[in-house]
Amino acid sequence: MRIGQGYDIHRLAPGRKLCLGGVIIPNDRGEEGHSDGDVLIHAVIDALLGALALGDIGSHFPPGSPEYRDIDSRILLKKTMELIESRNARIINLDTTVILENPRLAPHVKSICESLSALCGLDINAVSVKAKTKEGRDATGRGEAVEACAVVLIEEGG
Ligand code: MG
Repeated sequence: MRIGQGYDIHRLAPGRKLCLGGVIIPNDRGEEGHSDGDVLIHAVIDALLGALALGDIGSHFPPGSPEYRDIDSRILLKKTMELIESRNARIINLDTTVILENPRLAPHVKSICESLSALCGLDINAVSVKAKTKEGRDATGRGEAVEACAVVLIEEGG
């Protein structure tokens, strides 16, 4: 068994889509980024890579690379899953937290869980998405950014 954790933060800007776990959340601002900026998928990718000590998202998908400009982060997660499977490893469970002041994520948590479970080939009961705010504190609390954390348990071999 191996454990991995990931974290990411993106600025929020008008005219961008708010993508979380492969789901587009209706909102007047979304993540800035070289890719679609899906902060939750990026945290999940870093957790997966971290569990197997395979570097980080930037080393696998360089942010300056034209290949990844505005790319759907679901594609990056699928590529990461292929890497995990090529190492004969499988995910046991995935636990995540999104920190976002607005909008409230509660109505979207189920669809985000379903999206991540499909992308990672996991039973829905093995995927957790929790939503927090910063209670109005710091840049994220002022609605200027969105953060995500992920922890994953992986079984090697077998
Ligand atoms: Mg990112």
